[in-house]
Amino acid sequence: MSCRNGASLKERIENKKKIVVKVGTSSITYDNGKLNLRFIDQLARQICDLMNRGIQVILVTSGAIGVGVPVLGFREKPAYLPYKQAAAAVGQGFLMNVYERIFHEYGRHVGQVLLTKGDSLNPKRYMYARGMMMALLELGVLPIINENDAVAADEIKIGDNDTLSAIVASIADADLLVILSDVDGLYDKNPSKYDDAKLLSEIPSFSRSLFQMAEGPGTARGTGGMYTKLLAAEICVHSGIDMIIAKSTVPSVLYRLMDGEAIGTFFRSEDVHPQMKKRKMIIGADLKGKLFVDEGCRDAVLHKGSSILPVGVTGADGDFQDGDIISVFCGDEELARGITHFSRKDVEKICGMHTSEMNAALGYEAPYDTVIHRDNLFVLH
Ligand code: GLU
Repeated sequence: MSCRNGASLKERIENKKKIVVKVGTSSITYDNGKLNLRFIDQLARQICDLMNRGIQVILVTSGAIGVGVPVLGFREKPAYLPYKQAAAAVGQGFLMNVYERIFHEYGRHVGQVLLTKGDSLNPKRYMYARGMMMALLELGVLPIINENDAVAADEIKIGDNDTLSAIVASIADADLLVILSDVDGLYDKNPSKYDDAKLLSEIPSFSRSLFQMAEGPGTARGTGGMYTKLLAAEICVHSGIDMIIAKSTVPSVLYRLMDGEAIGTFFRSEDVHPQMKKRKMIIGADLKGKLFVDEGCRDAVLHKGSSILPVGVTGADGDFQDGDIISVFCGDEELARGITHFSRKDVEKICGMHTSEMNAALGYEAPYDTVIHRDNLFVLH
């Protein structure tokens, strides 16, 4: 199979360095709600082997509520929200305990990350979530992510882990999302209704008409959750992230996908410049202040893609806090916008200083050595 811009699927996949794998409740549990340990073991083995190959992996897993329900003695998912939250609290611990032990057998540590909607919408929380995920990956730990169902009530919920996995892929700057599911992929019509339905092996460019192909939200939700998978695909392709939907029961599915075998449906992403990804997050947000930098810093930011260090900062303006979006000036020229790690008060204490002098000036241990990290800096030129 070849992709539109010339690169074959195999070539595209071979270049992937950071991937998100999403597994659903139906893949990791049996119908009675008990864990499918055979599947989890095979998943862990493949993920650890990919990590040993040098690929960074993040696992997004469902199952907290599904696993917690029988543990608490409920026959089915309770409608009463506090019971559902209780099931999630119990099930999440249960799930992590199993993941921890199985991944450990293959030599990897795991880190539990529970997110809520606010982590993707609020720039400050986005920045902290991103920093934490990058750190786990850098330290060779497998982040295992779920929505924080024990605290998230309906109005603050992302609600489904297909969308969550796409958000995670975008927060972590992944280059591929693999959704392992109980469906083979996207069909041109509903395969449970039409015998001649054909599996689409590649979607070269995403269009909203695909939602119709999945027969609209109502039906699609009932047919293997294709609606939320298409929502995830939409987020991914517009963020420059390729996505695959494949059946979790295909033997060695991850190995084979990462070897470039055409399994399931491949959604080819748009070419999105890394700067444009940051643009979405940074441009349009309320600017809370200004940071002034010297010529040396200007040059490093514009020509070397550097972060902004305190030593290059000459002053600040406005009433901003850490996590706020501020603009960066050299004289009258606006160079960039980004998310600051320090409040104005603290910036004024450390401006012009070398990293080694920061702690004494701040009176606490500085959590970052940059005022704005280049990952969170959108250069305007
Ligand atoms: N976060 C939910 C859970 O762990 C699952 C949501 C979903 O399956 O999409 O139970």
